[in-house]
Amino acid sequence: MGNGNADRGGILILGGTGEARALAAALVARGHEVTTSLAGRTSAPSLPAGAVRSGGFGGAEGLAAYLAAQRPHLVIDATHPFAARISANAAAACRRTGTPLVRLERPAWSAPPDHPWIEVATIEAAAAILPSGATGFLSIGRQELAPFFSRPDCRFVARMIEVPSGLPADWTAIAARGPFSRDDERALFSARGITHLVSKNSGGDQTHAKLDAAADLGIAVIMVARPPLPPVRSFSSVAALLADLI
Ligand code: NAP
Repeated sequence: MGNGNADRGGILILGGTGEARALAAALVARGHEVTTSLAGRTSAPSLPAGAVRSGGFGGAEGLAAYLAAQRPHLVIDATHPFAARISANAAAACRRTGTPLVRLERPAWSAPPDHPWIEVATIEAAAAILPSGATGFLSIGRQELAPFFSRPDCRFVARMIEVPSGLPADWTAIAARGPFSRDDERALFSARGITHLVSKNSGGDQTHAKLDAAADLGIAVIMVARPPLPPVRSFSSVAALLADLI
C-alpha cells in the first residue's frame, strides 16, 4: 500500500464504527496524520484520535471535491457494513480522483448450526415475515424502524443509541449503547417476552451477545443480510490492515 505520492496529505478514515476508532488510534500512535470523517448523526459520538470532520460530503461529487482539495494519500472505508451509500460514494470518488482506497470490513456473523436463522435480504422483508402476535426485539438503528410501523398486530421493543420522536405509542423504546452482556440480554428478552429478534448482520463482538441470548432462550432470529458493496480491497481486522500498511 505504501505512502503513494509524497506531496499528498494524510489518511482519511470514513468512520462511525468501533473499528474505525481503533484504527485511528493505532495509526495516530504510529505517527500517521489521520482525519476521521463522521456522518454527524449522533449528537454525542465517541470521538477517535486524530482530527475529526463531521457531516455528509454531498454525494460522490462532494467527496471527490473534498479528496481533490485535501489530497489524502489513502482513504480507508471503515464504515458500518450496512452504510452502503457512503461506501459506494467512496469507491466512485476515489476512482475519479485516483485516490487509493481500502476497506476495513468486519466478518459477518454465521448462524449456530443448532439455532438456524431466518435470513432476509431487507429490513422490509424482516417486517413482513414476522408472524402476527409476535413480540419483536429490534436492534437495527433508529433509521430503519419505519417498516415495522405497519405491523400493529405485533408488539415491539426497540433499542438504539438515541430514541427518535414519533415512535408508535405502544412500542417500548430503550436508549442504550453496547456492548451488552449475554446475561443482561437474556434477562431483558425474558422480562419483555421477546419471541423474535430482528438483527442486521453487522458482525463483530460488540453486539453478538443478543444472538447468544436468543439461542439460549430459543428465540427466533430474523437476520437481515448485508447489502452488496463495490469490490474494494478489504481487510477483516485492524491488525491485518496495519500489517499491510507498514
Ligand atoms: P449511508 O446510508 O451509507 O450514508 C448516507 C449518507 O450519510 C452518505 O451519502 C453521506 O452523505 C453521509 N455519510 C455516511 N457516512 C459518512 C461518514 N463516515 N462521513 C461523512 N458522511 C457520511 O450511511 P448510514 O447507514 O446512514 O450510516 C451513517 C454513519 O453511521 C456511517 O458513518 C456508519 O459507519 C455509521 N453506522 C451505521 C450503522 C448502520 O447500521 N447503517 C451502524 C452503526 C454505525 P453525503 O452523500 O452527503 O456525503
